[in-house]
Amino acid sequence: MSTESVYAEFTAWIKQVHLLGTVGELLGWDEQVNLPPGAAEQRAAQQAALAGATHAAASDPRLGAWLKVLEAEATLTADQRAVVRQARRDYDRATKLPAEFVQAKAAQGSRGYHAWARAKAANDFAGYAPVLAQNLEFAQREARYLGWGGREYDYMIDRHDPGMTAAVIARLFAELRRDLVPLVRAIAASRVRPRPGALRGFPVEGQRAFLREVTAQLGFDYARGRIDVSLHPFCTGTGSDVRLTTRFKEDEPLDSLFSSIHEAGHGMYEQGLPAAHLGTALGIHAGMAVHESQSRLWENQVARSRGAWRGWEPRLRAAFPAQTAGVSSDELYLAINEVSPTLIRVDADEVTYNLHIILRFELEQRLFSGGLAVADLPGAWRESSQALLGLVPPDDRVGVLQDVHWSDGSFGYFPSYCLGNMLAAQLWYRALALRPALEEDFARGDFTWLLGWLREHVHTQGRRHDALELCRQVTGEELSPKHLVRYLTERYGKLYRI
Ligand SMILES: [Zn+2]
Repeated sequence: MSTESVYAEFTAWIKQVHLLGTVGELLGWDEQVNLPPGAAEQRAAQQAALAGATHAAASDPRLGAWLKVLEAEATLTADQRAVVRQARRDYDRATKLPAEFVQAKAAQGSRGYHAWARAKAANDFAGYAPVLAQNLEFAQREARYLGWGGREYDYMIDRHDPGMTAAVIARLFAELRRDLVPLVRAIAASRVRPRPGALRGFPVEGQRAFLREVTAQLGFDYARGRIDVSLHPFCTGTGSDVRLTTRFKEDEPLDSLFSSIHEAGHGMYEQGLPAAHLGTALGIHAGMAVHESQSRLWENQVARSRGAWRGWEPRLRAAFPAQTAGVSSDELYLAINEVSPTLIRVDADEVTYNLHIILRFELEQRLFSGGLAVADLPGAWRESSQALLGLVPPDDRVGVLQDVHWSDGSFGYFPSYCLGNMLAAQLWYRALALRPALEEDFARGDFTWLLGWLREHVHTQGRRHDALELCRQVTGEELSPKHLVRYLTERYGKLYRI
């Protein structure tokens, strides 16, 4: 068989595996948006059946044989080599973990979630600690099965961000921490404060229409996607079927608007992946840091800018004349860009959010190196919180127990959020250098240049490059926190008069 026909059969197969995965995503979306309360067990059975079929396809020995042939083939193009490399990662993950381990880990994940939910409600970290210690052990075993012995935390990071390591993140975060802590202190000490409750009583229907207008204007294609309501906003799906969700609160219209813009940023990335290559490395995203850079860029650099609001403010006032009558333009802009240190990560603004991530990364590193015992986590959390945010949680519910991630063993995920913020700022300044009048485009409701640039340099690249290489290629520089610090200082320094 010629290399070409092996490659064709191989890519057809991995695209099938990916299609099965997208069906699972759709079931997951439906579960969070539409599922009747009595159908939870049936849905779990459907998901388990599909997961079995997907795993069988992903671990098929033919795939292993094709990979061996293609890996030995010197004539592959760079693109084909990228596809083979990614398929090898997936194949090893599907075949190197013993079935008993996968099952035990799934059961542990579900146990962990319930143990966490109970512990959080009762403020009982001690009751959760044994489960968390087991999660840590499962994560370390998984890394060793896949050949990452001695670098277990790097494995956890690589799962979400191929090519990224704890050492690289530690260097970037140390620099960011040095510059960000004083900025947050200065903003907290500023006398400029948004007026609490300035925006109240925004009917849901009006909010829905406004956020749809805004996200469509940014470039989310509603012919290839939709938006619905769920408890926590998310984005799922890819290519020509991308699903966004949001939630509505009448007295917090900016919450639904900005979470929708954030998810639409993820969605526009997925809509921009090359359709012909969906399921191979050329048609999937480059990792969670790059994904998060896309959602953050639209949410923060673009949608919190003066330029964008020159266009949107009149539209908001026309849609909600009574609710906005007593709110000045400056008050509105300050509400959009409110910064205030909080104990809770998910409530944090775009400045302090990064400190929440640094805190979690530093603790995860110490957990994996053995330098911190699970039992000592609450105390370590309080110390870091004081040092980074200047706030000490009064109890563990608003401290170490606040996040769901560790309950099912999702270590190494948090750093992606902050790496995404760094990359977003770096992409933003590159775009501005190429087109200094970007905010004037925004004021006219024109976001096409920016989306076109991202499509060409980020979206259509798929997973050819990891986050660090993509950053070099697009911006001509190594990934660095200095752009994020510059952006936050420029925007918030002026606003908070510091
Ligand atoms: Zn996101």
